[in-house]
Amino acid sequence: KNLTKYFPIKGGLLSRTRGWVKSVDQVSFTIKKGESLGVVGESGCGKSTLGRTLLRLLQPTNGEVYYDGKNIFDLSKDEIRKLRRKMQMIFQDPYSSLNPRMKIGTILEEPLRLYNLGTPEERKKRINDLMEIVGLDSEYLKRFPHELSGGQRQRIGIARALLLNPEFIVCDEAVSALDVSIQSQIINLLQDLQEKFNLTYFFIAHDLSVVKHISDRIAVMYLGEIVELTDKKTLFEQPLHPYTESLLSAIPIANPSIQRNRKRIVLKGDVPNPDNPPSGCRFHTRCPYSQDICRSEKPQFHNINEGNMEESEHFVACHFAKELNLDGIKN
Ligand code: SF4
Ligand code: MG
Repeated sequence: KNLTKYFPIKGGLLSRTRGWVKSVDQVSFTIKKGESLGVVGESGCGKSTLGRTLLRLLQPTNGEVYYDGKNIFDLSKDEIRKLRRKMQMIFQDPYSSLNPRMKIGTILEEPLRLYNLGTPEERKKRINDLMEIVGLDSEYLKRFPHELSGGQRQRIGIARALLLNPEFIVCDEAVSALDVSIQSQIINLLQDLQEKFNLTYFFIAHDLSVVKHISDRIAVMYLGEIVELTDKKTLFEQPLHPYTESLLSAIPIANPSIQRNRKRIVLKGDVPNPDNPPSGCRFHTRCPYSQDICRSEKPQFHNINEGNMEESEHFVACHFAKELNLDGIKN
């Protein structure tokens, strides 16, 4: 709720704060238990910062995060320890998060030891079971991270995230570093695990085609804000935000007769600096549909189907959301 995270820009002799990088700015949304919420946007738009704040790895500048109805920044030490087990993260590059000097078996035992769970025998069984669940032979437990392929390392990263029976997992670009064929294997695995263990995912990627398969709903971020959020089908077929339309136009489609007739929207300019975002609508400097009002007035992020029980929720922040009639992908 109104989640905001600013990072100070330090500089000068006394290392004074010279400004603020507005990484996440007044973002409000809900994640439903058991769903997979995809989050897309260019690098630097605040996706990772948002994910880390949800996990309480970062303290927000403002706003709250409620988990099961409780503000996670308002908990006792004991409650925090319990919550930690329920929330896990899968990283883009498991290599940098796996200690290169430890064997896989030791890496996977660590969280269980930290939480004092089970006897050595029980831990061994738990680890072996998880290796099977993520599709790896337990032979790999004797190896070091560098002896594994990228896909195998990501399976270890997933096994480690599952060790403590979590409920909520932030996948931060979990498949972005992998080859396309391995990507789909890992996405399939994550989907199977979600069903098996009733997991809830916050699935971050910079590419809409990656989140498409795994998401129930998708949030599109631009410069620290969520600009559109709705179910996957609606977002792909009837986008309401011009930024979403441009992201969709970049996705190649297998059907050549449709592909040929599509317009590719290339945004002008670069993403503006998040320490000094544009006034009004932050997207106005690059939006093909920008009008005068877009420079001066900030569009409200609101549910366009509010009060209409027949339509699913469709949140958008654009002054002209109802008028633009943007192109989606229908197939
Ligand atoms: Fe474009 Fe204006 Fe809508 Fe912003 S509010 S997305 S600038 S049309
Ligand atoms: Mg990131």
